[in-house]
Amino acid sequence: MIMLAFFARFFKKHPSVMEKHTARIFFTNTLSGKKELFIPQKPGIALMYTCGPTVYGPAHIGNLRAFIFSDTIARVLKVAGYRVRRVINITDFGHLVSDGDDGEDKMTKGLRREGLTLTLENMRAMAEKYAAIFFEDIAFLNIDTKEITFPRASDYIAEQIAFITTLEQKGYAYRTRDGVYFDTARFSGYGKLGGITMCCQQENTRIKKNKEKHAPADFVLWKSDSKLGWESPWGRGFPGWHIECSAMARSLLGQEIDIHTGGEDHIAIHHNNEIAQSEAASGRTFVHYWMHNAFLNMGSEKISKSLGNAVYLSDVITKKFNPLALRYFFLQAHYRTPLSFSWDALAGAASALNRLWDIAREIAIESKHKSAPSEIRERFLATMRDDLATPQALSVLWDSLRSEEYTPEEKWGLIEDADVHLGLSLVNPPATNGLTEKNVPEEIRDMLARRQAARDSKDFKEADRIRGEISDRGYRVDDGPNGPVLTRTTL
Ligand code: AMP
Ligand code: ZN
Repeated sequence: MIMLAFFARFFKKHPSVMEKHTARIFFTNTLSGKKELFIPQKPGIALMYTCGPTVYGPAHIGNLRAFIFSDTIARVLKVAGYRVRRVINITDFGHLVSDGDDGEDKMTKGLRREGLTLTLENMRAMAEKYAAIFFEDIAFLNIDTKEITFPRASDYIAEQIAFITTLEQKGYAYRTRDGVYFDTARFSGYGKLGGITMCCQQENTRIKKNKEKHAPADFVLWKSDSKLGWESPWGRGFPGWHIECSAMARSLLGQEIDIHTGGEDHIAIHHNNEIAQSEAASGRTFVHYWMHNAFLNMGSEKISKSLGNAVYLSDVITKKFNPLALRYFFLQAHYRTPLSFSWDALAGAASALNRLWDIAREIAIESKHKSAPSEIRERFLATMRDDLATPQALSVLWDSLRSEEYTPEEKWGLIEDADVHLGLSLVNPPATNGLTEKNVPEEIRDMLARRQAARDSKDFKEADRIRGEISDRGYRVDDGPNGPVLTRTTL
């Protein structure tokens, strides 16, 4: 450990030594509020933890913004030469799952909605059902899961109990009649993330005050429950939800990690609580770079299941958008900028992405898939490594691909770089632009087949007439190198 700290200090002083193996990347660290050069604890390896979904229903597209954000960080790190080890937890039980120690338990709410009785087995089964949908969604969005471990919180009960025991032994926890709480007064740096002061950690006044707590900011580590849960030194019950992240991060990545991500809603309470637990237990810095994405909003409200305005990836697909249009939509804004969702804005992103795919198909043919180095590629890399400046990276991409200045090989090189960083399938654009057997109406499929038959028999007049009919129904057909490509042009 002393060696690791030595390396970290050494590379901070002499970053050029490290550059020989890995490129310089800057990230905005919520801890300092500033853009900082990324220096991992171990040269060449980035350890990264992302707060994952509570699987009581499908993740909405706001949640998905958080996972596209962390995927983009990992992509930038990998291209820059890092080995990235990642964890995204799956919260598959919960008792006190609001940020404070109040509100309704989301998993219980989910079981009631599905007409299932409240048992651990039912909770687990429901969790796995929605975890499967989450995995499908992130696969649709080209989120690279190769280096990610997805631990279930319920598989780490022993680790959470051990963690709470350590906190108790070190004097950071106290018992009440309803469980065990973290004593924030004992942790001097409490609230350091985002500059949260104790004044602001008031309990929600609408909720009955918890008289057992010594201070409003204290939070539950173990909640007793006589009917449901796991046995523990504090009786049957559940871990509080903050502890799962601290325990799983420590078990799977170690006591000190490089990057921790999540949505900005987690800064004030959840992440300050994670810091308090982890640093109180280990006496070491838990996370060196805290990174947070801004919210996806609907009008002036955040997208959230509880507000009833949630949109899901399944809605995006039902409306015949390629899921990658959503990814493109997110990348058009910087991750720290709040973004407002509308179907029109998504349609704009879809049509831009379709144009980009068309251009990429043409350049693939012109360059014969051969790439050449160029300054545009350097510029593209520089924008991505400057705190993931994806809007600027997209404009470098557009400007360069449209420009006459560069050769097809240089452009193809840029497309390859853009593809690994942005995950937009630019090297292999989908032949159907995301339209599949399932979501193209039978009538259109029939017209496509008739048009192809007309073309095969060289009746181009008839083929053009059918193309016009297809266009009247809101689809465009282009003849690509691998056959006709269908694009949805209207909602
Ligand atoms: P949850 O399942 O509520 O714990 O959320 C999973 C992740 O999505 C967390 O990192 C949240 O901070 C993030 N998140 C939740 N709602 C939004 C939103 N509307 N926009 C962006 N990120 C969000
Ligand atoms: Zn977390």
